[in-house]
Amino acid sequence: MDLACPGRARLPTGAPRPPPMPIDLADSASSTPSTGPASAPGEGSADPASPRYGRAHYYPDVSDADWSDWRWQFRNRVTSLEALATHLEIPAEEWHDRLEVLRDFRMGITPYYLSLIDKDDPDDPILRQVVPLAEENLFRAVGEEDPLGEEQFSPVPGITHRYPDRVLMVISNNCAVYCRYCTRKRTMYEGATPDVELDRMVDYIARTPAVRDVVVSGGDPLNYSTAKLEQILSKLRAIPHLEIIRIGSRVPVALPQRIDDELCAMLQKYHPLWINVHFNHPRELSPEARGACDRLSRAGIPLNNQAVLLKGVNDSVETIRALCHGLMRMRVRPYYLYQCDPVRGAEHFRTPISKGLEIIEGLRGHTSGLAIPTYVIDAPGGGGKVPVAPQYLLHYDRERGRAVLRNFQGNLYEYFEPRADNDELNPEPAPSGGRLVPARGRVPKDGPGEGGRSTAVGAVPGSTGLNGRGDLPATRGPARSNGKQGAAPWAGSPPAEGDSRPSRRRGSSKSPGVDAPLYEAYLATPPQPGSDATDVVGKSRWVHRGATTRTPRTAASTEAGVAGGRSRAAQSPAPQARPTNGHGTH
Ligand code: SF4
Repeated sequence: MDLACPGRARLPTGAPRPPPMPIDLADSASSTPSTGPASAPGEGSADPASPRYGRAHYYPDVSDADWSDWRWQFRNRVTSLEALATHLEIPAEEWHDRLEVLRDFRMGITPYYLSLIDKDDPDDPILRQVVPLAEENLFRAVGEEDPLGEEQFSPVPGITHRYPDRVLMVISNNCAVYCRYCTRKRTMYEGATPDVELDRMVDYIARTPAVRDVVVSGGDPLNYSTAKLEQILSKLRAIPHLEIIRIGSRVPVALPQRIDDELCAMLQKYHPLWINVHFNHPRELSPEARGACDRLSRAGIPLNNQAVLLKGVNDSVETIRALCHGLMRMRVRPYYLYQCDPVRGAEHFRTPISKGLEIIEGLRGHTSGLAIPTYVIDAPGGGGKVPVAPQYLLHYDRERGRAVLRNFQGNLYEYFEPRADNDELNPEPAPSGGRLVPARGRVPKDGPGEGGRSTAVGAVPGSTGLNGRGDLPATRGPARSNGKQGAAPWAGSPPAEGDSRPSRRRGSSKSPGVDAPLYEAYLATPPQPGSDATDVVGKSRWVHRGATTRTPRTAASTEAGVAGGRSRAAQSPAPQARPTNGHGTH
């Protein structure tokens, strides 16, 4: 029996798919300003004229009053396959599998969130997040019920106390939408959390002075009525040692109508209060969502985004970059990019770690650091969040105070730590460091392995900066180059075997931790003008801009400059002209 929606034509097998919708609606010139009010009633969540998505397509007969009413949205969530089939095509052969997975984890999609789905794209990134798919059944038995061990670290039901100074407080078990990859799907039974349980959670925090920060989560705390949520918040705020209240919510994404003035007025009574939102895809940054975030920001609530890296949804540099840029325009800080947890039924969403590294690599240096989330893996069994990043510190010799760094273009730079303060025996200034192998300073694809590659030219994109073994190149050699306690690592007698210090005076080419030919080329490079500290002092073009003469550099003036450090600039002739762009410092 074909249970597919009778009113909808299916794409014939082999028919070309329509092109996917642009991923960054917020980037389009016609998008609503992020700081403006929510879209006016009737505008819908996307282009109302679109035949493929939008309120006008899915809910043409719903009044503006209903559409803007979050309770109407909540009541009219799509919770069954039959109801879904009145909106989206469900292939007949997938009904069985999709019904099976609903036995494990319920479905819920607000009309608003449904309206973001492109009906003609079976791989639509919004659809994949909330519509049960046959592939979910394929891996139904794979994964854990409680992959993060939240219940192992639970002193009272609803509380997870894993970190010393903060706790997670799960106060609800329902959400506006049910995300198919949810880590906490085991708790979504949509019953009311009894008051006695809520009180026990509050009581635990009150009895635990070490707790200074609570994450109020669920389910979704913002699904509570404003009065009920205020009851809970007021009890928390009455705890003297509790400094910070954070709320985790997907409501601004899936039910932005809920963020009304009444809620914002209530929330701002309980500062310092932060909200972590959960946008995964730039198409979720609709005018309604932007309006919701704007109202929260105006209530003084800092917003941070916690996205989950999901295969087939947002697993590309372009998508995450568009998401982060859109969030920044909405004054939402991209905070975390989570590796998808190995929760049961979510195997088809999981990506290799290399995908996350590739995305961060594609962001770092290519956009502001503020727009780059921290990529984290929540360690299984309760290990907590572990930040994972591409390797930019390629070599670090702590004993010698030397590091080799890779920048976002793949160029290598040498960096020296400050000379020890008690190093009276070695007054020689530290090397300034600088770029390694100016003409060829590219990191090999796998990073500079120990004693490794002879050619180092090549593009870096995609490189994790790790060596062939996937770890930092090892450091060998004696602890100190001259054996004198407290001696600066770059001073003293000729280097011992394996010493990696890059002194041209010594002519040593040993660099066990760095690609040898790269390092040889670096040592053969004559010192560049301006590479020494004495050349740099007093040379700011800004300070001297417009000056007709400069103080000639003499040995005496150089010494004075070194001794005086940056203050030497003040001894130079008064600047004739200063930057006039209004940015005095940067
Ligand atoms: S909104 Fe959050 S808690 Fe609710 S289903 Fe989605 S991921 Fe899970």
